[in-house]
Amino acid sequence: MKNADIVIVGAGMVGSLLAALLKDSGLNILMLERSAVTAPAKDDAFEPRVSALTRASENLLRHAGAWEKVESLRACPYTEMTVWDADGSGRVQFSAGELGETHLGVLVENRLLQAALTEAATRAPNVELRCPAQMIELERLPDAWQLVLADGEKIRARLVIGADGAQSAVRQLTGIACTETDYGQRAIVTTVRTEKPHGFMARQRFMSTGPLAFLPLQGHDGDTHCCSIVWSQDETEAQRLLALDDEAFRRELGFAFEHTLGRIEWSDTRYSFPLRARHATDYVREGIALIGDAAHAVHPLAGQGVNLGLLDAAVLAEEILRAIERHIPWWSENTLARYSRRRRAHNALILNSMTGFRQLFASHNPLLVLARNAGLAATSRLLPLRQEFARVAMGLTGDLPAAARSV
Ligand SMILES: Cc1cc2nc3c(=O)[nH]c(=O)nc-3n(C[C@H](O)[C@H](O)[C@H](O)COP(=O)(O)OP(=O)(O)OC[C@H]3O[C@@H](n4cnc5c(N)ncnc54)[C@H](O)[C@@H]3O)c2cc1C
Repeated sequence: MKNADIVIVGAGMVGSLLAALLKDSGLNILMLERSAVTAPAKDDAFEPRVSALTRASENLLRHAGAWEKVESLRACPYTEMTVWDADGSGRVQFSAGELGETHLGVLVENRLLQAALTEAATRAPNVELRCPAQMIELERLPDAWQLVLADGEKIRARLVIGADGAQSAVRQLTGIACTETDYGQRAIVTTVRTEKPHGFMARQRFMSTGPLAFLPLQGHDGDTHCCSIVWSQDETEAQRLLALDDEAFRRELGFAFEHTLGRIEWSDTRYSFPLRARHATDYVREGIALIGDAAHAVHPLAGQGVNLGLLDAAVLAEEILRAIERHIPWWSENTLARYSRRRRAHNALILNSMTGFRQLFASHNPLLVLARNAGLAATSRLLPLRQEFARVAMGLTGDLPAAARSV
């Protein structure tokens, strides 16, 4: 039977960052991933799943040794961000320049990020990636966990990390409960080509039916006319939009976006995801820790999901390395509790504010419409407020692990 110090179930973006940050720990780390991991080629069409990484996340990727590969393929920094209310005149716009920074964040395709991180992690001799390998059972032994894979192989580990996404098998098999809010909405995602270049600006229009985001992408040839869109809509309206032919969809999309970037000239295949907020009631159990979407899933309106998950991975890595340095058991309840304390309350705050924010913008109540427009206008007028918004967007506030603060 194979033994490992740590088994990470799920080598998505979050699980593979944890492995990469633990590469010098001296621990024997095994990552299990059920689906193939491949990076898109330079001239492939853009992937439908894209993440807006904060500067804090970019720092983490640099620390993990994954940034070079991301940059060498394709990533799009964004220097400005604008958010406006469809039901009024409220608008806020802020730029990296106001803070003396080069950019606010970077748009990267999820598949590229995952491939770069697994590659960085497995460069270390103590990190192994098993793929395809699906964990299907978990059993508690006196001083370890035993994992059973779909092919019947058994593996023992002192610490098991659930980095296996929103439907986490680790969470379910260990009986960790989860609160769930169904927004009754679906996010439509696709890539579009617009008449005007995006100018490296991330744009979001808030409608009472849901937010519509245009996130800038950059081709390897420097083309800046493509955006990844995320359009959140009620279930029935989303199904109607998904069923439209390409031309009709582009017409409706252009209209909903007030033709801010001119005509929508081309659109790729549309995909959609149901929107649910989830939060595990506990992040840790004896010899178990949940990170990323296994622990929490948030509304994509602020593009926070993967950034929160990457911070979970970095804080857990920091606590494990701290315990090793101080000669205390890195798998102990204390070590895991320190991780949970640093992350759960913070993530709960983000989850609640995303839900509140969505409700605020979903309202037609004239007083609320007035209040949110006044709020946006005030933010837009006051430089310190705008700067604070920009710092939050860059992810450079709160209890950050050292690896997220600088390179
Ligand atoms: C429409 C939409 C748009 C979004 N946009 C953004 C954005 O702009 N910015 C942002 O920060 N976030 C965004 N998010 C959220 C973001 O995509 C997620 O937070 C992120 O994918 C979570 O990463 P993860 O590694 O925790 O989980 P996942 O990406 O779900 O990875 C889990 C991995 O575990 C593997 N796995 C699962 N079960 C097993 C098993 N039993 N055995 C072995 N392997 C297993 C899976 O194959 C997968 O590779 C968006 C989400 C949606 C729905």
